[in-house]
Amino acid sequence: FKDDDISAGSLLQLADLALYRAKSTIEHEALIVDIKMKEELTYSSLLLKEMRQSIVDHDFVIYLQPKVNSNEKIIGAEALVRWQHPRHGLLPPADFMSQAEESNLIVKIGDQVLMQACEQLQRWQKNPTTKSLSMAVNLSAKQIWKSHFVEDFMATINTYDFDKSKLTVEVTETVLLQDINDATDKMNQLKLLGISISLDDFGTGYSSLNYLHRLPIDELKIDRSFIADFIQNKQMGLMVKSIIDLADNFGVKVVAEGVEDQEQFERLKGLNVAVYQGYLFSKPVSLEVFEQRLRQ
Ligand code: C2E
Ligand code: CA
Ligand code: CA
Repeated sequence: FKDDDISAGSLLQLADLALYRAKSTIEHEALIVDIKMKEELTYSSLLLKEMRQSIVDHDFVIYLQPKVNSNEKIIGAEALVRWQHPRHGLLPPADFMSQAEESNLIVKIGDQVLMQACEQLQRWQKNPTTKSLSMAVNLSAKQIWKSHFVEDFMATINTYDFDKSKLTVEVTETVLLQDINDATDKMNQLKLLGISISLDDFGTGYSSLNYLHRLPIDELKIDRSFIADFIQNKQMGLMVKSIIDLADNFGVKVVAEGVEDQEQFERLKGLNVAVYQGYLFSKPVSLEVFEQRLRQ
């Protein structure tokens, strides 16, 4: 590298970036990082600096997407994080989640998401008309695999007063299968508190049926890629039906995500899906807009 204008520090940062990216590919491939990526590095260090400041300033907020039953009645919501960026406006997870994960800042952001979700649940439960609503939060691998995850999670939710059976955590199978014994143990501890466990993006990972039955799962979310295709594509249709049968046999509730049109909704109702989520009903909205919807 001696002919290139790069400091030892930047070089090590690039090596770290390459290592992280290589590890995050499915095959754990070797990866070559070009020196031109220095620019990307500068961009991402600015982003990280802003992200740290935004954590302090509480710029990470939750948006809620309704979960509805077959009568289109709102029965709860999924909390989805948004970054209220001071210069760029409202950013979706796609714009910052990989950096948040890479840098471990997702742990702090996840804490703030959990706190906001609990606060909202507490508010709902004070009102008889919203008392039965449930709330789901997404957990990333970095949160689950940190030490004292369960203790910290408990400490956070116990600062709020609400019926814990209305809280669900959504986790992907890929995350849980990284260490099935530890995952089973942690998920069981959450369940002892009354919390429900939902398997997110079902069908996109290495769904190993052999392992699946060991996990203490209450709910399974059929990934939206299946829902998008299952009417046109016969194979996909069979897959969706099989997933629903499988869940039924295990006594697990099914949620269909990414429901975008009436035909998909009707077909899924015919298959006895319990809960639906998707643009057909609503995009994720701010807390204020969600409250308005509830009043309507
Ligand atoms: P996810 O958990 O699978 O969340 C569902 C995503 O699908 C959301 O995107 C939602 O806006 C989108 N969606 C919902 N209905 C439809 C539909 O009918 N059609 C289509 N095309 N999309 C639909 P969003 O909010 O951009 O979140 C993306 C991902 O970011 C989430 O996927 C989740 O993996 C992650 N994420 C969001 N919030 C959090 C969080 O607080 N913590 C963690 N760890 N991850 C989060
Ligand atoms: Ca989710
Ligand atoms: Ca999902």
